[in-house]
Amino acid sequence: MPKVLDGAGIAAAIKAEVAEEVRELDSQGIRPGLAAVLVGHVPASAIYVRSKVHACEELGIYSELTTPQETVTTEEMLDVVAALNDRDDIDGILIQLPLPNQVDAKLLLDAVSPAKDVDGFHPVNAGKLQAGRPSLVPCTPAGVIEILRRSGIQMEGQRAVVVGRSDIVGKPAAMLLLNENATVTICHSKTRDLEAITREADILVAAIGRPGFITPGMVKPGGTIIDVGINRITDRAEFERFFAGNAKREAAFAKRGSVVIGDVHPAAFEVAGAYTPVPGGVGLLTIAMLMANTVRAAKMRRGGG
Ligand code: NDP
Repeated sequence: MPKVLDGAGIAAAIKAEVAEEVRELDSQGIRPGLAAVLVGHVPASAIYVRSKVHACEELGIYSELTTPQETVTTEEMLDVVAALNDRDDIDGILIQLPLPNQVDAKLLLDAVSPAKDVDGFHPVNAGKLQAGRPSLVPCTPAGVIEILRRSGIQMEGQRAVVVGRSDIVGKPAAMLLLNENATVTICHSKTRDLEAITREADILVAAIGRPGFITPGMVKPGGTIIDVGINRITDRAEFERFFAGNAKREAAFAKRGSVVIGDVHPAAFEVAGAYTPVPGGVGLLTIAMLMANTVRAAKMRRGGG
């Protein structure tokens, strides 16, 4: 039986460590602060931001939510960011994506002070990661590494294959694995003979955004699968294709009319030696790493970290 990697346990351990760091900072009169900016009314974004604010409260981090109107302009958003950059009580700035079309997201993310860029999206922080001197690292890829490290899965010398090359997940995950001395291949939609490459992976990271894309034939027997994907399926036929005969998932689908699935087909996990489930895997680490980044930013701004 493959081992299920415990995202919940690892996230809880990281949060407990962060809470301890917050207490230490508190004893020096410092309270880390996170400002979240949520534009408009995208329900999923609102849920994500709420859980981030809730995590701050849980750990003793100050948090503040700014909610510009859906019609906000790039200039107005730049003013919001500039004001947050200037504030001494704010250590981290989080701009929840996606932004409305009229807002130039790139320009805006570039305007966040690299020292407060707790999402790790600023080119300065991407460059530092590339240079092997990571500073504030994107939260989801950082979570991938924490899961591997804390589960005792060797990275050094292992063949790691990352499917997906986004700036948010795939690319930084690949750089972090390289920094851990894995031998890394990055695959994407133009990769030829993808199966042959993924089958060689001791560590396979799936960050594609396609439900159940990685099938059993694409997995190295005994390898580790990290499934970053979060996809909601509502179609009955699609549900059957992945979860037929799975009583627990049947009950969830009947109740809510949808279930969440990663980028890996459930049958592919059976070939692996260890894997992260969806839900209950990488997703839980993302917020924990955001909290860790906020405390790190607070320390770095004061010359520590
Ligand atoms: P993007 O859409 O930005 O990137 C997807 C990547 O997958 C692209 O590089 C694309 O290649 C590649 N891809 C698409 N189709 C194929 C294919 N047929 N074969 C090989 N590669 C393919 O997605 P993200 O990186 O933002 O997210 C990836 C997944 O991770 C999503 O399911 C998302 O929901 C999830 N996610 C989860 C988070 C969490 O907290 N757990 C946080 C962020 C994302 P190309 O570049 O050539 O187009």
